Amino acid sequence: MEYFNKEMDTIPLEDLKSLQNERLRNVVERCYQNIPYYRELFDRNGINPKHIRTTDDLVNIPFTEKKDLRDHYPYGLLGISTERIYRFAASSGTTGVPTLTGYTDKDWNETLLDQMGRIWKSFGIGDKDLVYQCYGYGLFLGGVCMEMAAKAVGATLFPAGPGRTMAAMQWLKDMKHTVICCTPTFLAYLTSEAGKNGIDPKKDWALRTGDFGGEVAAPSFRRKLEADLSPGFVYHETYGLSELGGACVAFSCPHSVKSNQLHVLADHYFVETINPETGERAEPGEKGELVFTTLTRESSPLIRWRTRDMSGFSSEPYGCPCGREAHPLINYVTGRTDDVLKVRGTLVFPSQIEEILTQVHGVGEGWQIVIDQSPDALDTLLIMVEASPDCWEKKEEKERIRAEISAHIQARLGIGALIEVKEPSSLPRFEGKAKRVLDRRKEE
Ligand SMILES: [Zn+2]
Repeated sequence: MEYFNKEMDTIPLEDLKSLQNERLRNVVERCYQNIPYYRELFDRNGINPKHIRTTDDLVNIPFTEKKDLRDHYPYGLLGISTERIYRFAASSGTTGVPTLTGYTDKDWNETLLDQMGRIWKSFGIGDKDLVYQCYGYGLFLGGVCMEMAAKAVGATLFPAGPGRTMAAMQWLKDMKHTVICCTPTFLAYLTSEAGKNGIDPKKDWALRTGDFGGEVAAPSFRRKLEADLSPGFVYHETYGLSELGGACVAFSCPHSVKSNQLHVLADHYFVETINPETGERAEPGEKGELVFTTLTRESSPLIRWRTRDMSGFSSEPYGCPCGREAHPLINYVTGRTDDVLKVRGTLVFPSQIEEILTQVHGVGEGWQIVIDQSPDALDTLLIMVEASPDCWEKKEEKERIRAEISAHIQARLGIGALIEVKEPSSLPRFEGKAKRVLDRRKEE
C-alpha cells in the first residue's frame, strides 16, 4: 500500500487521539479569542474554553449550523483578518445568502494539498493517470479540489468542467483518460448517451476509476455504473462540504470501497454522529447525522458543525486492513435530513426509493417522485419510472415492473405508492445534482 503521508495515514489510534485532543484545545482557544460568535456561545452556556480538554468534552458545546453562518454573513466566522485570506470559496446560496469559507495560504497550499493527495493515493491514482475533470470551478470547490489532488499525486489533468456531454464521450474515446471526476448521475448520463451514439464505454473508453461525490448514490447504482464500464472499473468516493474546506473530509480505500464505507481524515476532522432529533451521540453501527469539528483550519474553523447528512459509524470503525487503522470508517451518506420526506407520517429518504428502483429489472435511467395531497387530504406518493427499451414493448413486463416496485415500497417503507411506468427517455434528465423529487404540497 502506498501512502501520500505515511506518518499520518498509518498513525496508531492512541497517538491520533492525543493529537486530536491537542489540536482541539488549540481550535477552541482560537475560536474563543477570535470569533465573537463562539465567545458568546461559550459565555451564554457557561463554558470555560479551558475545560474543553478532550474530544469527549465536546458534547457540552452546542452545535453550529448553517443559519449561524448566515446570521454572521459575510465575515463573522472567519476567525482571521481578511488580509490573511489567500482565497475564498462559497456555497451556492440557492436557499439564502451564500456562506463563505476562507483559506489562508497554509489552509490552501499545505492542508488541502495534504488532504487531496492522501485521498487520491488511496484511490490508487498516480503519475501515469490522465484525469477527465467535470466538476465545476469558480466559487465552487469541486473542480479546484480535484486540481489539487492531481497536483499532489502527479496525475495529468484535463480540466473540462461540467456539461459538454457530446464532446466528453468522444474525448474519452480519443484521448483514453483513465480517471473521471464527476457526480454519479453525470457518469450514468454520459454512459447512456454514449451507447446511443455508437460509443461502447466498455471498449472505447479506458476509464479505470473515478472520484465521485456531491450527491447520494445507492450501492446498487454504484455497482450498475461499474458494470457499464470496462471490467475492473472501481467506483471511489470522496465526501466533503464547502464549509469544511471542500471535497476533502472522507474517502474510500481499496477495502472500504466494497462496503461503500469512507475513512474520515481524522487528524484534520473530528467526527461525531448524532440523533438529529435529540442531538445525542449515536452508537457505532447506528444511523446518525454527521457532525464535524475542524482540527487544522486556520481560517473558518468550525466546532460541532451539523452537516444535515445522514450516515453513521461502521460497526467496526477502526483497524481497516489498508493501514489507515485510526481513521474511522463511516457508512455512505443515505440522504440529507432536509431531504427527508414525511409521507402520511412516515419518514422517507429519496435514496431509499432509488435503491429499490435500481434493484428491479427493466427499470430504465429516468425516475421521479411526486408527492401531492389528495382531495381527502391524505398525501399521495407517486413514483414515475422509465422502462428499459426492451421491457417497454411488452405489456406484461410493464405490469411486472409496476407490481415489483409497489411490493418493495410497501415492504421496505410500509406505505403504499402509485407507480407509473413511462416510455424510455420521457422523463427529464439532469446533468448535475438530480432533482428527483417534486413536492407539490409545498407549492400551495
Ligand atoms: Zn481502509
